[in-house]
Amino acid sequence: IKKIGVLTSGGDSSGMNAAIRSVVRTCAFHGLECVGIYRGYEGLMEGDFINLDARSVKGIINKGGTILKSARSEEFKTKEGRQKAYDKLIESNVDGLVVIGGDGSFTGAMIFNQEFDFPVMGIPGTIDNDIFGTTHTLGFDTALNTVVEAIDKIRDTASSHNRLFFIEVMGRDVGHIALNAGVAGGAEEILIPEEDLGLERLEESLRRSRKSGKSSSIVIVAEGDKIGKNIFELKEYVDENMSGYDVRVSVLGHMQRGGSPSCFDRVLASRMGVKAVESILEGKTNFMVGLLNNKMELTPLENAIKGKSKINLELLRVSDIMTT
Ligand code: ADP
Repeated sequence: IKKIGVLTSGGDSSGMNAAIRSVVRTCAFHGLECVGIYRGYEGLMEGDFINLDARSVKGIINKGGTILKSARSEEFKTKEGRQKAYDKLIESNVDGLVVIGGDGSFTGAMIFNQEFDFPVMGIPGTIDNDIFGTTHTLGFDTALNTVVEAIDKIRDTASSHNRLFFIEVMGRDVGHIALNAGVAGGAEEILIPEEDLGLERLEESLRRSRKSGKSSSIVIVAEGDKIGKNIFELKEYVDENMSGYDVRVSVLGHMQRGGSPSCFDRVLASRMGVKAVESILEGKTNFMVGLLNNKMELTPLENAIKGKSKINLELLRVSDIMTT
């Protein structure tokens, strides 16, 4: 292995730049060349590459987003598209690829590896934390901090006006952001896809919390929750069926994806970049680098994609106890 390519693909997340920096500097440390590939698989098929040395990644560890840009690519899902990508890599003498992205990007990397026997290594970058084989994906911790800050601010208004707030947070079809931020932000109820409370339990819980003397409430709603009503319909439901509530809705949206990465994400990204490059050097391929028991561990890409990260049942119980 003499030259490694690095790209960011799919949804962006904080910590991707810190991971790019780590990959580039680990290459430099081991005397390898490194190329950055712009716009994920799109740039890979076009040969949109840039040589990166240790100095070219200065000043980015604290920046959100990705300097290499990210994209989604339909063409890479075709055999012809992947052939183009392979030709560009061979043309530029790149002989290993680090893919920073989510499960879609890993699926692409895995298929590419199987077709061309090209060494690939994945680094999980997504705020949703929906990848198996790592307790934390890059950007998850930063997103949590952003969400908790937002909940704290909304709580000021909720308690000044005795309001009930439904706050929708991201997470695709998993509830990791909702559960963790909900516990940290002291939410009265947390609606996640993994555990469908049902409307009745929600009503009951709101009534109980009011009876216990609480004058304002915050309910965190994961975007993928299964209660069967979106956040605006939930407000309507409470307006129509429960008297005495002044209900407001807040959808946090894309602010959750960006921002300067937390200390945790920067450290994690630095560790993952080193592990990814050194694993390729050791001849390993088709794995994802992950954090398990505070160690860097490799998980086959296939398992990382299919395994689905599980919700923390102990934390779910803590959340139930905290809302008593
Ligand atoms: P994420 O990586 O954040 O989950 P996406 O699901 O959008 O984001 O996937 C990113 C890109 O990965 C897609 O635009 C596509 O180019 C590539 N990809 C996803 N699934 C496949 C697949 N089955 N075959 C080849 N490439 C894929």
